[in-house]
Amino acid sequence: MIGVESRFYIDVRVDNLSLDTALERVETLYKESSDGVPRQIFFTNVHSVHLANQNPLLKHDLNEADLVLPDGSGLKIAGKVLNKPVEVNLNGTDFTPKVFRMAEVAGWSVYLLGAKKNVITECVENISKRFSKLEVKGYHNGFFDDKEEKEILKEINQLKPDILLVALGSPFQERWIAKNAVNLDTRLCFAVGGLFDFLSNQTSRAPLWMRKIGCEWVYRFIQNPKEKWDRIFVEIPLFLYAILHEKIRSVIPRGNFKKLGPFNG
Ligand code: UDP
Repeated sequence: MIGVESRFYIDVRVDNLSLDTALERVETLYKESSDGVPRQIFFTNVHSVHLANQNPLLKHDLNEADLVLPDGSGLKIAGKVLNKPVEVNLNGTDFTPKVFRMAEVAGWSVYLLGAKKNVITECVENISKRFSKLEVKGYHNGFFDDKEEKEILKEINQLKPDILLVALGSPFQERWIAKNAVNLDTRLCFAVGGLFDFLSNQTSRAPLWMRKIGCEWVYRFIQNPKEKWDRIFVEIPLFLYAILHEKIRSVIPRGNFKKLGPFNG
């Protein structure tokens, strides 16, 4: 991609951009999508790197997307260890509201797909209050069967939103976009993970001081230890191990180093 520096952490792509450049990139992708092909914008974090190394399709979807932004302090640590620093944490929860502001000015409309029924309804109400000039063309919860999915695709194509936000969790949201984008009448597709939970009043964000020191993940674990324990106790240690492995591999001459990484079996 012209003008965008992509880096790979354990073979998974991250685009290293400042906030302003990332927003400019979104605008450029919007313009480019006038060719009829919706552009795909994803976020990479420790969780998705972990999943991508077990799921080649997710790795492919992330690495082939039009923009992949770095989400979370894990990638910052990886960047420092590997001497490939990440300029800024551009997680979806902070970045997407900035896209909403752009959309208000540019007159772009949105459609939201994902989260539980009560969550998405409350999320849309809150978005409409906070971004009063943003046109929310439609929304649907993220729990649907094949028949309902066809109806959702039909509805999106009837409404023709400029931006489609998909929050189904990884790897489903990235796959859903990669599979369906080509048949969708929209301009930009974002995979946004837990964004709708935060924008509704159902899940609170970590206090600002925790976010500033890069510990939002601790707060998310405390909120939901049953669902998030493996992200802390399995994925983070494996990620750090793999990053150290990559570092050692980069300093030891080829051929002298066995394939012993956690994702190499
Ligand atoms: N979700 C959904 N359909 C599903 C599974 C999950 O809509 O079949 C939603 C879920 O309710 C949540 C979001 O997807 O709103 C994923 O949130 P998570 O916290 O897992 O995202 P991440 O931490 O990966 O950003």
